[in-house]
Amino acid sequence: MFCFQCQETAKNTGCTVRGVCGKEETTANLQDLLIFNLKGIALLAKKGKEAGVDMTTEAGRFVTKALFTTITNVNFNDANLVKWIKKAQEFKKSVKDKVEGKVPGALHESALWFSDNEAEFQEKAKKVGILATENEDVRSLRELLVIGLKGISAYADHAAILGVEKDEIYEFILNALASTTEDLSVDDMVGMVMKAGECSVNTMAALDQANTGAYGNPEITEVNLGVGANPGILISGHDLKDMDELLKQTDGTGVDVYTHGEMLPANYYPAFKKYDHLKGNYGGSWWHQNEDFETFNGAILMTTNCIIPIKKKNTYQDRIFTTGVVSYPGLTHIPDREDGKTKDFSAVIACAKKCQPPQEIETGTLVGGFAHNQVLALADKVVEAVKSGAIKRFIVMAGCDGRMKNREYFTEVAKKLPKDTVILTAGCAKYRYNKLDLGDIGGIPRVLDAGQCNDSYSLAVIALKLKEVFGVGHINDLPISFDIGWYEQKAVAVLLALLHLGVKGIRLGPTLPAFVSPTVLNVLVENFDIKPTGDVDEDIAAMMAGN
Ligand code: SF4
Ligand code: SF4
Repeated sequence: MFCFQCQETAKNTGCTVRGVCGKEETTANLQDLLIFNLKGIALLAKKGKEAGVDMTTEAGRFVTKALFTTITNVNFNDANLVKWIKKAQEFKKSVKDKVEGKVPGALHESALWFSDNEAEFQEKAKKVGILATENEDVRSLRELLVIGLKGISAYADHAAILGVEKDEIYEFILNALASTTEDLSVDDMVGMVMKAGECSVNTMAALDQANTGAYGNPEITEVNLGVGANPGILISGHDLKDMDELLKQTDGTGVDVYTHGEMLPANYYPAFKKYDHLKGNYGGSWWHQNEDFETFNGAILMTTNCIIPIKKKNTYQDRIFTTGVVSYPGLTHIPDREDGKTKDFSAVIACAKKCQPPQEIETGTLVGGFAHNQVLALADKVVEAVKSGAIKRFIVMAGCDGRMKNREYFTEVAKKLPKDTVILTAGCAKYRYNKLDLGDIGGIPRVLDAGQCNDSYSLAVIALKLKEVFGVGHINDLPISFDIGWYEQKAVAVLLALLHLGVKGIRLGPTLPAFVSPTVLNVLVENFDIKPTGDVDEDIAAMMAGN
């Protein structure tokens, strides 16, 4: 196996024996083979469109969902991945049949390979994985693109679940994925990566439209961290439709609902806040789940990533459920909705009813809900605070959390930043500092949490609004610094979005991506002044000086 798609990759070069995330070699290989088939579908769909056979919507839907399942901590289940590979081949065959005879020239092998012999899958996977591209820089640019597309696909899939789909997004994903089978010049590959940033902005905007259209604009909310006396269900991930249906189905049952990890921002939405049995948030970010799930005592629902391997000695294996693209061997999976119907969470609810209430692991509240609409409602106050000098600088500390000890950097930065700075955040990174008492500036909290990682879109909207209000030419001319923690592929999509918006001088940590070769890094440094996070005090001093 060879996988280097996340920040925790072995030795910051690549996992070659077993993933640091717990992914087995066979699983990594099956994911590679699935992606190979998706490239074939993308190529056939692209060529089909050129020949007048338009399958963008169907192919886009299939490819985005399948790419999503290959993201870190989504799918550890070989049997499920074998099914995906078979489904991908069936889909590819249907696309191929439609374009047969209409597409000129030879096709890449990914469009032509078919096998229903499962025994062949592992061997084939070894020949078509990441290392099949020998040139380090070509590999780097292709993988940067594929990894960014995975993140974009996750957001596109969430938007599609809520009924917002855009063919131009699907078309870009298909064309970009197909481009990784072609011999493009370095300039063209860099151009494609930059266009992925544009597509990422558009996809996050579509998801914002889907989420706020369905559930209202996030509002400033105090989220309870303690527990109630009823048994509960802990819901994690990003899928707000699952959240909606779970809240409806648990209403009046005597079972409470709590959010975990990336689902925390669901507490900020008006459509969910109205339920008394949505009790608040339990525990920390994704990598704390082994401990948090033990003490929670109740049923657990994983709607997207991040699920992490279950320890051999555990008490929760029988009370954790997966749904959507998440899959883990031996766990009960809640099936997808049939057309027009809701998902059926009765098994999760029945399980919760048999459980003890959660054990309290902390008390108090935290405040969030500062997505673009809410911050713009406070715009006058914020602008006034900047003009009066009460706020000297905004530090965007969005992104991910992770296990590595060097992520304490972000906690230290939050603690040591001057008191006249405001931290803008989104994603799991906030768990490094959102329970610290960092105070407020004239009633404006010093940590403004916009929501999930896709809500980084909100941070971009806020920055663009500030640019307009202050009449500066570019976001880079504002008193804003970017100090971003990354972990998995959605964070790469967000990073590409920031680059597309022309943001310069981003600090990225705790390490730079292993999939960026020295040559590609040079391109990023020269064009965008990207730099690694470093010493806390030195970084703060540099950011405060606008560097
Ligand atoms: S997802 Fe990350 S930790 Fe897991 S195998 Fe890939 S690089 Fe390694
Ligand atoms: S913030 Fe990062 S780790 Fe958390 S869900 Fe988003 S991409 Fe994954």
